[in-house]
Amino acid sequence: MIPVEKAIELILKEIEVQGAEKIDILSSSGRVAAEDISSNRDIPPFDNSAMDGYAVKFGDVRTASDENPSVLRVIEDLPAGYIPKKAINKGEAVRIMTGAPIPQGADTIVMVEDTEILGDRVKIFKKAKHGEHIRLKGEDVRTDDLVISKRTTIRPAEVGMMASVGRAFVYVHQVPTVAILSTGDELVDVDGNLTEGKIISSNSYTLVSQVRECGGKPVYLGIARDTKEEIAEKLMEGTRADAIISSGGVSVGDYDVVTDVIEELGGEIRFRKIAVRPGQPVTFGVIGGKPIFGLPGNPVSSMVSFEQFVRPALLKMSGFTKIFWPVVDAILREDLSQKPGRKRFIRSVVTLEDGEYYVRTTGEQGSGILMSMVKSNGLIVLPEDKTDFRAGKKVRVQLLDRSFEFGEEPRYG
Ligand code: AMP
Ligand code: MG
Repeated sequence: MIPVEKAIELILKEIEVQGAEKIDILSSSGRVAAEDISSNRDIPPFDNSAMDGYAVKFGDVRTASDENPSVLRVIEDLPAGYIPKKAINKGEAVRIMTGAPIPQGADTIVMVEDTEILGDRVKIFKKAKHGEHIRLKGEDVRTDDLVISKRTTIRPAEVGMMASVGRAFVYVHQVPTVAILSTGDELVDVDGNLTEGKIISSNSYTLVSQVRECGGKPVYLGIARDTKEEIAEKLMEGTRADAIISSGGVSVGDYDVVTDVIEELGGEIRFRKIAVRPGQPVTFGVIGGKPIFGLPGNPVSSMVSFEQFVRPALLKMSGFTKIFWPVVDAILREDLSQKPGRKRFIRSVVTLEDGEYYVRTTGEQGSGILMSMVKSNGLIVLPEDKTDFRAGKKVRVQLLDRSFEFGEEPRYG
């Protein structure tokens, strides 16, 4: 039996970041850049107006006021997207729209709100600052600036930046395909024949969804009966994927043969037990060069061990550098106690109140109680060496989703 930290270390040691593929930037949000991207241009590409108003010479408006407005002759009307035809001389102005290039001879923009038009003249009532409201060429990005570095997670802002620098395609890390197999004579699929003694293989569905949630491509292999032959056949199919997950058949029962089958197929087992509750019998190995995770069959054990051990591996494969769920300190709402020796993950409800996290358990914690996962948005992490935890004290909580932070109303204060 190895500690959780050791298990994660052994897993990540076997996991390599996947190679690159070239994709359309419109499909790149949520992926990880596999290249450095530099700009081949200045952005903005030319000096332009930040306001609707008048392009002027500063010298002509330096003393303008309500009592003593400057009066300039308007020589051109310049919308965004067009090149000025004329240069400005002393006493002249160009009516200019936001984003239009600054005409030659102009060095300052006066906002339209500080002016009044009178035929072909404009009255300016407020003195401007020199260079005011001009966006300078290259003030956002300069030619050769690094705008996105390798291993950055691409978000909408990065997609916009790639478009701005003229990149229609980007190299990103490939996402892993993940084969998923459920094992057990008692299992049927959701549309299967639920005769006496059978149950629906809910793990098949949670695992497919968990893989998808962390960006992997699930390949569902279906259900294998508890025979070595059937499990071996399915696992061999699974080796065509980048990683394999099985659920069930890793405990000590007579029909728990997954670990044996992996070895008989030439796979190497790295460990078979973790000091954790729920989910102690987790097998990890390598088969045909692919990592294989043998998760326990109990629905909660399968889900929790996926989040602790499989998710970081899949995220690493996709190139992510932040691969663990965030952990916060939260004030416990109830007393908790446990037997020492194993790290414990308790399904719980986290709330954020006046800047403090609070946490309570979801109640019944049996490893077959899938409702404990349905109700929870976090996992209290109890260290293996402590037995008693008092209400009002802080414990560590892994946040499995951040929905509670979003709130139902905007909160700015
Ligand atoms: P096992 O790890 O194979 O000993 O299974 C432990 C418990 O989990 C048993 O009660 C199984 O019926 C249940 N179980 C195993 N596989 C699944 C599955 N795919 N979906 C739901 N429950 C399962
Ligand atoms: Mg079983």
